[in-house]
Amino acid sequence: MARYIGPKCRKCRRYGVPLCGTAKCALLRRPNPPGPRPVRRRKISDRGQQLIEKQKVRFAYGLMEAQFRRYYERATTRQGVTGHNLMRLLEERLDNVVFRMGLGATRAQARQLVTHGLIAVDGKKLSIPSARTKVGQVISFTDRGRKSGFYKILQEEIAARDVPAWLELDRKAITGRVISEPGPGDWESYYNPNAVIEYYSR
Ligand code: ZN
Repeated sequence: MARYIGPKCRKCRRYGVPLCGTAKCALLRRPNPPGPRPVRRRKISDRGQQLIEKQKVRFAYGLMEAQFRRYYERATTRQGVTGHNLMRLLEERLDNVVFRMGLGATRAQARQLVTHGLIAVDGKKLSIPSARTKVGQVISFTDRGRKSGFYKILQEEIAARDVPAWLELDRKAITGRVISEPGPGDWESYYNPNAVIEYYSR
């Protein structure tokens, strides 16, 4: 699956929020947007602002446009607030769950753990980052994952990682479980899901 492979924190600096998901975001050192400074600042239209809000979410979850749009379409077919449906679908992606559990330091790293076959769901290897997790599923490392150098480092680092309330993590076994569906408050407050929906729905 294609993905954005440019400089990691360029998008963070462009949108002014740490989309990379790390505490070491370059945004903290260089808070200005990338590239030359604009000669004049133009007023952003509603449409332009919706585009910005869409791109923020899309880049944060590391998706290309076509795939991201499919999430929007799926979100519209469900009951409830469409923006929340969209965010819930994104949060339930396996790569995101691995990231939120603290098994990967960033979503990009979490995605790599999945594609390299280091992650198991309910005891079986699952190497598809977009796989949708469900309540009750157990996320762990595969045998190969546990033998990796990455796992040894993680055993020391995992103690310092926070886990949201909809997930639980046994830090000793480095095994987690989805205990409920993610809801508002489980994704970052600097996203504006309603603006993303407006962007696509006109
Ligand atoms: Zn960053």
